[in-house]
Amino acid sequence: MEHLDVLIVGAGLSGIGAAHHIQTDCPWATYAVFEARDAIGGTWDLFRYPGIRSDSDMFTFSYPFRPWQGDRSIGDGAAILQYIRDTATESGIDRHIRFGHRIVAADWSTADGWWRITAQRTDGTGRVEDVELTCSFLFSCSGYYRYDRGHLPDFPGMDDFAGTLVHPQEWPEDLDHDGARIVVIGSGATAITLVPSLARSAQHVTMLQRSPTYIASLPGINPLTRLIRKVVPARWAGTVLRWTNALATQASFRLSRRRPALVKRVLRKGIERELPPGYDIDTHFSPRYDPWDQRLCVVPDGDLFRAIRAGTVEVVTDHVETFTPTGLRLRSGRELDADIIVTATGLELLFLGGIELSVDGVAVDPGEHLAYKGMMLDGVPNLAMAVGYTNASWTLKSDLTCDYVARLLNHMHRTGAVQCVAENRDPSIERSPLLGLTSGYVTRAQDQFPQQGSRFPWQMHQSYLADYRVMKRSGLADDGVLAFSRPGAGSVSTITEEQMA
Ligand SMILES: Cc1cc2nc3c(=O)[nH]c(=O)nc-3n(C[C@H](O)[C@H](O)[C@H](O)COP(=O)(O)OP(=O)(O)OC[C@H]3O[C@@H](n4cnc5c(N)ncnc54)[C@H](O)[C@@H]3O)c2cc1C
Repeated sequence: MEHLDVLIVGAGLSGIGAAHHIQTDCPWATYAVFEARDAIGGTWDLFRYPGIRSDSDMFTFSYPFRPWQGDRSIGDGAAILQYIRDTATESGIDRHIRFGHRIVAADWSTADGWWRITAQRTDGTGRVEDVELTCSFLFSCSGYYRYDRGHLPDFPGMDDFAGTLVHPQEWPEDLDHDGARIVVIGSGATAITLVPSLARSAQHVTMLQRSPTYIASLPGINPLTRLIRKVVPARWAGTVLRWTNALATQASFRLSRRRPALVKRVLRKGIERELPPGYDIDTHFSPRYDPWDQRLCVVPDGDLFRAIRAGTVEVVTDHVETFTPTGLRLRSGRELDADIIVTATGLELLFLGGIELSVDGVAVDPGEHLAYKGMMLDGVPNLAMAVGYTNASWTLKSDLTCDYVARLLNHMHRTGAVQCVAENRDPSIERSPLLGLTSGYVTRAQDQFPQQGSRFPWQMHQSYLADYRVMKRSGLADDGVLAFSRPGAGSVSTITEEQMA
């Protein structure tokens, strides 16, 4: 049976970043990336709706080891996909990817000191067969949501609609929307990206939202970017841009938490500047929650507001009563006629790519475990997961995790440790949800995800600065939580670095 030192799950942004770190920092390790689909890129290959783009800045969204060279803060989907693909091909990572391999089960054997992995391989004809292998360390970079379907509420009368119904997760390549009347249901990042983009060629677009979202307009090109590139030597510019943007995002998040009323006022002022006098901002752009209780959306150069001003986009805040053959009837009684209805109703979250985990044959329920530094499960050996921030670019945290895992693996290699496990020995740790957002798609899936604890190292910082300090700068074996062991030293005993040396 094949054995790998490291098995990476997923060839998206995180998986390619993980492969880079393993390849560069742990040259002794054999590794492969198992990818369920037939493509590199994950999210950025799956989502193909018009206008798809990042909603966080590219200087923090790109890898620290390969800084973004473009001028625009917000990157379009095709450019991001190309960037991930280029990162994989330029360093030969692509040769380590096994496409069409979905990991379905992983069982840790304490006696053997390895994971027994079951993957399902799909060949070109759609035939599926099981593949078994073992690996010493399992690194899940499987994202956080289902790929086979998005979230679709059970709207009454959906089957009666005679037009075209589309979910952004499955955008038909040949969908002709020129001159169409379109209703986009939703108010999250996807809806506010799609709406101005569709409005360029549609007859009219209505954004139908149940409740408003906080939206900030940012300049497509930040003048500071050009200044930094002008005054800072080229080899440092990427790092300076990453830190400048990361700290600015963090400062605005902190301010939102400490002074929500002030941030609300600032966001509202921004919207007032963008919309015509008399526009009903209270109804359509004044959320009932505090900024950053849910993800804040950004629009580059106010494109959504420009479309509203031009009259090609209308925002309607109401509830769907029922679909009708010609469109929608709303709770207020208003009818919206549509040729196309887009259900931008969100994602269905999925933990660890749906892998069934067990330790020595005993099933692991992730919802009952604590996340150690947001990247390991307590009591589950030799497993890490790359999970990004919800309040900043995903990559900032996932890259810190990849760097940390590489250091952990080198430490184990050097000291001969076979098993590494985070152990919570403190009964006073209180538990709370891992993803601190109140959005529907997060709360719906809360039970599937591990929890965070009330204190370090179980607490999620949601802060690049704090995580940088504890993940990049700190030692590995000195926090009294990570326990390393090897055969002969007891199955899961804690041994110190000195004992192992
Ligand atoms: C539309 C959209 C826009 C976004 N925009 C931003 C943004 O601007 N900024 C930001 O920070 N974040 C954004 N995000 C979050 C985004 O998902 C992350 O930024 C990032 O792309 C996640 O990368 P990933 O590699 O961790 O996961 P993914 O991109 O989800 O990739 C996971 C990969 O793992 C594979 N996989 C899953 N399960 C298995 C399995 N069991 N076996 C084998 N393979 C498996 C999948 O097929 C996929 O290729 C966005 C998300 C969406 C949906």
